[in-house]
Amino acid sequence: MTPLRPYRPPCVVGGCTSLARSGFGRMCETHRKRARRYGDPRLRRCLTKAELKPYLREVRRLLRRGNREKVETVLVRLQQRVADVARDELAERRSSMFPGQSWLLNALEEIERVVADVSPGESGVLIAACFLARSRDPHRWPTDRAFTFDLVRAWRKQTDVASASYWCSTRQRAIKTHRELRPATTTAIAEMLVETYKTFVARITRAADYVQQEPVETKTLLAEGLSHIPE
Ligand SMILES: [Zn+2]
Repeated sequence: MTPLRPYRPPCVVGGCTSLARSGFGRMCETHRKRARRYGDPRLRRCLTKAELKPYLREVRRLLRRGNREKVETVLVRLQQRVADVARDELAERRSSMFPGQSWLLNALEEIERVVADVSPGESGVLIAACFLARSRDPHRWPTDRAFTFDLVRAWRKQTDVASASYWCSTRQRAIKTHRELRPATTTAIAEMLVETYKTFVARITRAADYVQQEPVETKTLLAEGLSHIPE
């Protein structure tokens, strides 16, 4: 006699033939893990340093054209704003009888740790580069949420505080791994970053698109200007 197995619905992710983890679950184990890690079960991996590199270069090149001192001042202020909000909120919550949800506290603590350790200039460039990557390759991220998970990951990866290390006995050395946050914590950090940097990144993205289109416009102009001359 076969034991009665509890009913498990099929995984909701399109094309997946596995069953959900439990009768209450919506996704199979693999997709649940991906959803937690990447903000969307359809994503298989995060944005890599190598993928971000050309965008970092592009943002740096753009900023060199502008007033570097002023930009640096703006980025210092933006990061300061993030730091102040996190510090004040934490102080208030820690002294309160009702400090609030732990995922929110974790988000504030994580923000405090990261801003204490990263350069405001580099951090601003990185955030702008992530948004530029998204504007150039929008289909890479199926949802806003998926994008913000990569944004937060890249932002945290600027510093070692995002990694945990363990001793690997086979390799006889300490191995660093990415310290995962709870999805709600990631979302809370993302909201704070997006809110603070949105004007800055919008400007950078617009300027970058303008510069990118410039040669095409020049070519069109040239073609029009020279149209009376037979080729
Ligand atoms: Zn699945």
